[in-house]
Amino acid sequence: MNGPVAEHLLRQHLIDPEICIRCNTCEETCPIDAITHDGVNYVVKAEVCNGCMACVPPCPTGAIDNWRNVPRAQAYSIDDQFGWDALPAQSVAVNAPAAEAAAHDPAPATSDIVRGSTVPPWSAARPYVQLYTHKAPARAIVVGNYRLTDTSAPSDIHHIVLDFGAVAFPVLEGQSIGILPPGTRADGHAHHARQYSIASPRDGERPGYNNISLTVKRVTRDHGGNATDGVCSNYLCDLHKGDEVTVIGPFGNTFLMPNHPGSHLLMICTGTGSAPMRAMTEYRRRRRLEGAAGKLMLFFGARTREELPYFGPLMTLPNDFIDTNLAFSRTPGQPKRYVQDAMRERAVDVAQLLKDGNTHVYVCGLKGMEEGVLAALGDIAQAHGMVWATLWDELKREGRLHLETY
Ligand code: NAP
Repeated sequence: MNGPVAEHLLRQHLIDPEICIRCNTCEETCPIDAITHDGVNYVVKAEVCNGCMACVPPCPTGAIDNWRNVPRAQAYSIDDQFGWDALPAQSVAVNAPAAEAAAHDPAPATSDIVRGSTVPPWSAARPYVQLYTHKAPARAIVVGNYRLTDTSAPSDIHHIVLDFGAVAFPVLEGQSIGILPPGTRADGHAHHARQYSIASPRDGERPGYNNISLTVKRVTRDHGGNATDGVCSNYLCDLHKGDEVTVIGPFGNTFLMPNHPGSHLLMICTGTGSAPMRAMTEYRRRRRLEGAAGKLMLFFGARTREELPYFGPLMTLPNDFIDTNLAFSRTPGQPKRYVQDAMRERAVDVAQLLKDGNTHVYVCGLKGMEEGVLAALGDIAQAHGMVWATLWDELKREGRLHLETY
């Protein structure tokens, strides 16, 4: 940060532990390894961070975008930050230059490290964000909790409907909410919020109702494959009708759908990453009657047909409304097939969409898919006469390439 902060002061970059969902995006994005974490918090090393802002646009919650003016000699150490449940208040004594410094902060820069758009589509509706916080959360009532996956499937994925009653909770497709699970961690601190994409359209899971839906997979293994019970996913999957849930958010101001009725959606997802695609598809389905003419093309990956959430309803959508392509990786007796393989098989149609300036691309699901999907998009573009580097930049700049992978 190069604002005119007095020499003895540091404009210190900090991460809000109350909002951070520990998705690791900032640590992966930081080009100079200034961000690290322990089992509890993500923190910024004051002596390494140069305020380049590369980590700010990709953060899904905005927890990353916090700054405090502190005497340089008293900068918060990473050990200080590891111990925080909330950000410290800005000390009044050093607050004076903050407004001036903020006025000189560079706009969040896009860079090669940022792979997707940091702006929404031009025709997206304006989202509300962070209306409800840890200190003042919203309460919602569970009005539905249904298992989505076949009972024979090992994955237990639930469709959970939350009703906000008379509480204003305006959302758009592509946004997410945070759930505060009850109880405390082993160290006695409250559990941090877990983020889930909203799976229903802006006008409600049930049209005209003040409710939203989530797609939640019961976590029974950690990333290393060891048995573990996911705190929030198990809490949510076990909820009953009438239970009360504590919610923060909404979050997200770029992964939003275009309102322009002629816009095309190229949607690529795996597993529960299908939540925002369901929201967008359902919104377009409802709006179709009002003349939305753009194309919808979906690439959806799961281990098996039985583990694919929303398989039944998806299959009833007519082909002239959505071009659905499924990729199953663990069908017995069949070779492994990923979404990027299915995209390559449909290269001609994907290329036709990529050539059209009305096309918006959405990728959501496992982190690992990002590499393969971008490579497939690049190869398809190049093979059909487009220069991928140029197109990629254009897609990012125009809010037409949105990635949400964890
Ligand atoms: P999953 O069942 O573990 O995987 C779905 C499919 O993706 C499987 O077929 C898997 O294949 C395949 N896959 C694995 N590596 C891949 C790669 N490199 N490229 C392409 N496909 C690949 O998925 P999940 O447990 O539902 O997880 C979905 C992800 O979405 C999670 O990371 C979650 O955090 C994220 N997400 C969830 C939400 C939500 O609201 N719930 C929202 C946004 C994102 P194999 O395993 O057979 O190799």
